[in-house]
Amino acid sequence: MSSTPLAPAAAGTIAAEAARRRTFAIISHPDAGKTTLTEKLLLYAGALHGEAGAVKARAGRREVTSDWMELERRRGISVSSTVLRFEYEGNVFNLLDTPGHKDFSEDTLRVLSAVDAAVMLIDAAKGVEPQTLRLFEVARARRIPLLTFVNKYDRPGMEPLEILDHLATVLDLQAIPLNWPVGIPGSFEGVIDRRTDLFHRFTRTTGGATIAPEVILDAATAEDSDDPAWATAREELELLDAVDEEFDDVAFRDGQATALFFGSAVSNFGVGPLLKALVELAPAPSPRREIDADGEPAGERPLEAPFSGLVFKVQANMDPRHRDRIAFVRICSGRFERGMRVMNERTGRSLAMAHAHEVFGRERSLMEEAFPGDVVGIVGAADTRVGDTLWLDEPARFPAIPSLAPEFFMFVRNGDVSRYKQFRRGLEQLDEEGVVHVLRREAAGDPVPVLAGVGRLQFDVAVNRMENEFNARVRLEEAPWNVARRTEPGDVPTIREATGSEVLVRADGTHLAVFRSEFVLQRLERDHPELTLDRLLTR
Ligand code: GDP
Repeated sequence: MSSTPLAPAAAGTIAAEAARRRTFAIISHPDAGKTTLTEKLLLYAGALHGEAGAVKARAGRREVTSDWMELERRRGISVSSTVLRFEYEGNVFNLLDTPGHKDFSEDTLRVLSAVDAAVMLIDAAKGVEPQTLRLFEVARARRIPLLTFVNKYDRPGMEPLEILDHLATVLDLQAIPLNWPVGIPGSFEGVIDRRTDLFHRFTRTTGGATIAPEVILDAATAEDSDDPAWATAREELELLDAVDEEFDDVAFRDGQATALFFGSAVSNFGVGPLLKALVELAPAPSPRREIDADGEPAGERPLEAPFSGLVFKVQANMDPRHRDRIAFVRICSGRFERGMRVMNERTGRSLAMAHAHEVFGRERSLMEEAFPGDVVGIVGAADTRVGDTLWLDEPARFPAIPSLAPEFFMFVRNGDVSRYKQFRRGLEQLDEEGVVHVLRREAAGDPVPVLAGVGRLQFDVAVNRMENEFNARVRLEEAPWNVARRTEPGDVPTIREATGSEVLVRADGTHLAVFRSEFVLQRLERDHPELTLDRLLTR
């Protein structure tokens, strides 16, 4: 392969740069406060110029320059994954956005293959909601360390012990509170840091636009013996200490236990401690697992090895004037330098990383150098797909990115016979990019393909791109299924025999059993426990 010779980065530099990186995502249900918390994290890290609220305001004022953005604007949602990069006390944070619309799509799930930790954000009144649950399932399957932030504590909601119970029941997740609230939600006085026994008193600031002045007192002196909230907090803490819920670093790093924090993003409370905890607890990038050509585990790629990266998102057509295509690459090892030529393991072709961008929201700026944990957007990365491994000098291959089985299905028909070629090409491209799954009853031949996704929004995006980018016309029609599982070719006859079931095939050979209801699936699982019916697909 041809590669531009580079001055080798000292291994020590790469290790040190990786060690100060924290790459994470926030997982939540819409309205739990993700945008607010993101802004406040930036505010506390000193990365926000001006007042909090500016991120949203500026985004709203920006000119709409593409259909893609038009879709974003019209629906008032963020379709694209973006990366926020900021520094805090010598650390570099990469916060990967997980699109938060209720019809969220596979993009959201894929982001979790590019992070080393996640903040699970829950509304104190609502607890775990459907989207939190789906994202949590993926996070758990990937064993991603989780910090949980219980938000909106300034308003009535579940009491702290109820929250612990709730997480244990709904997610089977042990939550270890690192701070404990004094006062119930809605009448919240502050939190006691369990490790230091310091009391952080809750102070309101006007509109939450500035950093809340921190009043930190020794809990023993701050304690007001006439205040029943204190008596309750003390009792609860004794209870927690008695069950000996020490913070278990191993369980945390494995995603089996979560570090729990209480706060209120809108009033800036508890944001500082969360940021500090991300530095202390969230792991820095570590060597990534590799596989061999047969998909078998093949050790790990050391951080100091030559450059390697994983493509976790491909965004096409962000700007129609350029018809550009950005591949978002999470760096897994080595040093990235703009202009270097890397190899795409899947295609065996080399790729120039000349137009690499650092992406801050929608702002792009050129990126000259980056290290493990960082994300770079490569413009013009034709023939690059989600899940591709890029490498320099020493071949690497990372495992495929798993995704959840789709839950929405639509028959898709060509709306204009004279443009059948555009129709076919468009579908092929969207399937390859992972915008939607394109399925057929047989591996080849069935004239009516089926689009499948984890959210309806994926269909809007697909139709929009079919029309504007491929110049095709499509008609969608509801298909009768709402549950799917990955299966093996050998299981197909048994599944097809069951009423209300069908098996569809994706171009890459993945077999997907689809069912008219959860009940049909359960009955089949009961009658045929030998069948492969897997919730996770790989892509
Ligand atoms: P997202 O959909 O998860 O990004 O949520 P937003 O950040 O847009 O917040 C949804 C709503 O909840 C907005 O009206 C926020 O002002 C409000 N909100 C966010 N954080 C808090 C909080 O700590 N307390 C209260 N009371 N409201 C909050």
